[in-house]
Amino acid sequence: MADIIQLLPDHVANQIAAGEVVQRPASVVKELLENAIDAGAATVKLIVKDGGKTLIQVVDDGIGMSPTDARLSFERHATSKIKCAEDLFHLHTKGFRGEALASIAAIAHVEMQTRTASEEVGTSIKIEGSNLIGQDVVVCPKGTSIAVKNLFFNIPARRNFLKSNQVEFRHITDEFHRVALAHPAVAFNFYHNGSELFNLPTAPLRKRIVHIFGSKTNVKLVPVQEETQVVQIKGFLCKPEYAKKSRGEQFFFANNRFIKSPYLYHAVLNAFEGLIKPDSYPGYFLYLEVDPSSIDINIHPTKTEIKFDDEQTLYAIIRSAVKHSLGQFNVAPVLDFEQDQNLETPYSYRYKGARPPKVTVDMRFNPFNTDMGQQGTQGNKKKNVKGWEQMYTGLEAVTGKGDEFSSVSFEAETIASSIFEEQRELEESAVTTQQLRRKYIVTTIKSGLLVIHQSRAHQRVLYERFLRTITGKETVSQQLLFPLVLSFSKGDMRILGEIKDNLMSLGFVFDHFDQEQLYITGVPQLVPESEAGIVLDQLISDYQQEVPADSFSQSDVVAKTLCRSLAVKTGEILDNTSQLALVNDLFACKESGISPFNKPIYVTVSEADIDKKFM
Ligand code: ADP
Ligand code: MG
Repeated sequence: MADIIQLLPDHVANQIAAGEVVQRPASVVKELLENAIDAGAATVKLIVKDGGKTLIQVVDDGIGMSPTDARLSFERHATSKIKCAEDLFHLHTKGFRGEALASIAAIAHVEMQTRTASEEVGTSIKIEGSNLIGQDVVVCPKGTSIAVKNLFFNIPARRNFLKSNQVEFRHITDEFHRVALAHPAVAFNFYHNGSELFNLPTAPLRKRIVHIFGSKTNVKLVPVQEETQVVQIKGFLCKPEYAKKSRGEQFFFANNRFIKSPYLYHAVLNAFEGLIKPDSYPGYFLYLEVDPSSIDINIHPTKTEIKFDDEQTLYAIIRSAVKHSLGQFNVAPVLDFEQDQNLETPYSYRYKGARPPKVTVDMRFNPFNTDMGQQGTQGNKKKNVKGWEQMYTGLEAVTGKGDEFSSVSFEAETIASSIFEEQRELEESAVTTQQLRRKYIVTTIKSGLLVIHQSRAHQRVLYERFLRTITGKETVSQQLLFPLVLSFSKGDMRILGEIKDNLMSLGFVFDHFDQEQLYITGVPQLVPESEAGIVLDQLISDYQQEVPADSFSQSDVVAKTLCRSLAVKTGEILDNTSQLALVNDLFACKESGISPFNKPIYVTVSEADIDKKFM
């Protein structure tokens, strides 16, 4: 057989390498910013258009390149940063693979201008899809400017694969944050579509964080500092009460390189245990300094995953450093969630104004009868609730987890009021419901049993209600006595600006927006004032995750976030009236079977199913 193996031409090899290095515009941003840092820049400008699809330009005032270097920099495996394999273990630069510029030039139109301090004139180079279009002498400032246009122009499939400009922009901002946080001594400017988003002067770390995430961040931070033989740790934690419902500000840097490490993240999480709710995420900015020879950065093309020699020790040190800092700043003992949960206002009270207490008189009450529990009247049950409940907690322990019905019927008794006041009359109707494990509502239907997931059911009800309000004409809002002033970062304010119309049709009334503050004078009727900030935070983070393409999907994101934040949760006790109202509301919904997040809401157990169990 004839020989069939051929060496790939350079431009093809470069395109393949590009696939690893350049996944999306944000990858280009990362590589160019890192090159500027490696070049010793004091000031770095990032200019982006259309989420990076049209233009990504980075201008630095670093060391620049000679004409020969300028040309060579676009060759694959061409680097000034390492000379031999040994150097891989003493890295002090961000780059070292010599692949970024070659990869970028393989799939975009690139224009570079660069000049070193010792030369009077600089070099300009134009490359399109690995083809050198021209090299000229230019007059330009010291440093380097690289403009990358029309990314993936020659790979339509990849270009089509890109997300909306907003989503790509979001990724770019994330990369920008990471580099800017790793290098507070470097000044950064960031422009998108002609407007300046960030102007970050050289600053100490804490200030850099605040410049990026907004002035309200300052009060959230507590410092961390730990020096050991293995690692030096510095940085900041966000106090536990600021933990978010979604992963927000979580940053690990190793030798000033942003890294992802689920393992080390776990160490932080572990240290926060008991201080934050199980479904929330702590914020942190942790900077690790380790001996470069004790890590391997070359295990992934994007260099965000690295291997530490002694991960377990690192884990223990990080965990204790975080704990120490939380303790030292007196953050730790303040919160006790075990207790908090019980003290929390029951859901049913949240949407109500104060109501005068009602005095109930138990006509059958007989002070001489000592065995009150047996009579089983409403008034007595409440009075004896302690001892009375204990009877069943014992029972529960005996029957064990498997027998979930054992505690069913008694949970609803502990709270008195209802979520849907207007439906109180339903109590009299023939349908009965029970709450099971504070999670399901069980009721009977003609053909058998209906088991409803309380949280999902309420999500569905609220979701449809919110969508109706957003798309309908009438908005119901609650006027606030004093305007609520909330602070957000500039980026967050921009997002709020984008969804402003939707928020207003929901019932939010904004007095004004300024750079970092929002003045709210009215909130939707279903959103308690105290929750408004939390809901908006959640909205911003959901919006970032899934930037909606059109206004319908924008309303959808808003309605989803609100219903998730405000719906009854698993673990909440619902009284009988609330259970009934929820069931009725659910079945008045357009799509009562499926939650807004595509999960089933209820299951039916037919009589036949039950019969089978008895065979
Ligand atoms: P790497 O950063 O891994 O070395 P790159 O492809 O990113 O590879 O860059 C290749 C070389 O081009 C670098 O090693 C550096 O010498 C030079 N270079 C790239 N960007 C700049 C810049 N902004 N200023 C000065 N030199 C640069
Ligand atoms: Mg590089």
